[in-house]
Amino acid sequence: ATRFDVDRVREDFPILNRQVHGKPLVYLDSAASAQKPTVVIEAVAACYREDYANIHRGVHMLSEHLTTQYEAVREEVRSFLNAASEKEIVFTRGATEGVNLVASSFVRPRLRAGDEIIVTGMEHHSNIVPWQMLGEETGAVLKVVPVQDDGSIRLEDFEALLSERTRFVSVVHVSNALGTINPVREMIALAHERDVPVLLDGAQAVPHMSVDVQALDCDFYVFSGHKIYGPSGVGALYGKSRWLKEMPPYHGGGDMIRSVSFEKTEYADPPQRFEAGTPNICGVIGMGVAIRYLRSLGLEAVAAHEHDLLVYATERLSQIPGLRLLGTAPEKAGVVSFIMDCAHPHDIGTILDRSGIAIRAGHHCAQPVMQRFQVPATARASFGLYNTRAEVDKLVEALEKVRKLFA
Ligand code: PMP
Repeated sequence: ATRFDVDRVREDFPILNRQVHGKPLVYLDSAASAQKPTVVIEAVAACYREDYANIHRGVHMLSEHLTTQYEAVREEVRSFLNAASEKEIVFTRGATEGVNLVASSFVRPRLRAGDEIIVTGMEHHSNIVPWQMLGEETGAVLKVVPVQDDGSIRLEDFEALLSERTRFVSVVHVSNALGTINPVREMIALAHERDVPVLLDGAQAVPHMSVDVQALDCDFYVFSGHKIYGPSGVGALYGKSRWLKEMPPYHGGGDMIRSVSFEKTEYADPPQRFEAGTPNICGVIGMGVAIRYLRSLGLEAVAAHEHDLLVYATERLSQIPGLRLLGTAPEKAGVVSFIMDCAHPHDIGTILDRSGIAIRAGHHCAQPVMQRFQVPATARASFGLYNTRAEVDKLVEALEKVRKLFA
């Protein structure tokens, strides 16, 4: 494998040249949304500038040409996740829509009052609220795997929650609030022993590790384009063919039908059945380019680079007096979440911003995690493939400044 040359890689991201409050931008908020390389920006622009038409219905050259490009992304995503067939790849607006689609089309018809859905205590709101909505409708209940002090979960706690009434398990692969990598392969095996299907929320996993849905044997997998250096508002859902085939449509409209009449409408086969309406065409094409870009750098090399940043940041932040890290599980990726004795996370974020350092402060759309650790919010620095140790140094310097200001 070639060495990961971060200085070279940074040249691919034009935004990294800009200044914020007169300081060079230090972007440590990729878990919220990652920056875009020139190849992605150019692909989206070229889609509109040179190739644009509607897809799937045109007899003219532009439409046919763009349809081919669009459908090629399905193969790109298939290969990215190592799905068995590109028919198992549904384009969505993002991870959120993927979870909602599975909740509506797969889980809802299987639920009766008193049935159970298992999630963990570290889910993003997008993997909590759709299940609560189903619960309100059907009387099903949510069971929550408790989070340990280090931000991990225990397999035995998960296993203890699996019951006769468990109908579905939906688990975050990598936590956006704590960085924890969950033991999903083992969880899936335990659920499958009881014939319970499993969805993985991979929004924070796919940017940081290679994912093989067949090896994991998950039933569904969702992610968002914008966290893997692609456009926002697009993403993908992987679903095993055997499930997708039996699922009713999510949205009704154009593109998802075989034929329509007022007497009888026939739905298209998956994945088109789940793709009603004109999609974010150029967004999907941009996502395909982003995936190709990420893979061209080598996912193993990217993961090793980011792991180095995580270890380095953890070590340096641990030395700051009055700073407490949340989420110290041995299996971790992408983020350092912390609080300081002296300052509220929002104040930390504001002061860092003045030094050009972008972090996130808040509940990270994971309020139950905040409740679990009895904090109102955390400050979170998250790493992308373009970050450097020098940027971690700047973060530490700025946090020292915060300490002096508030001491
Ligand atoms: N799950 C996790 C773990 C996330 O971090 C996010 C985005 N913060 C989502 C789901 C939702 O992704 P999106 O908003 O792109 O649908």
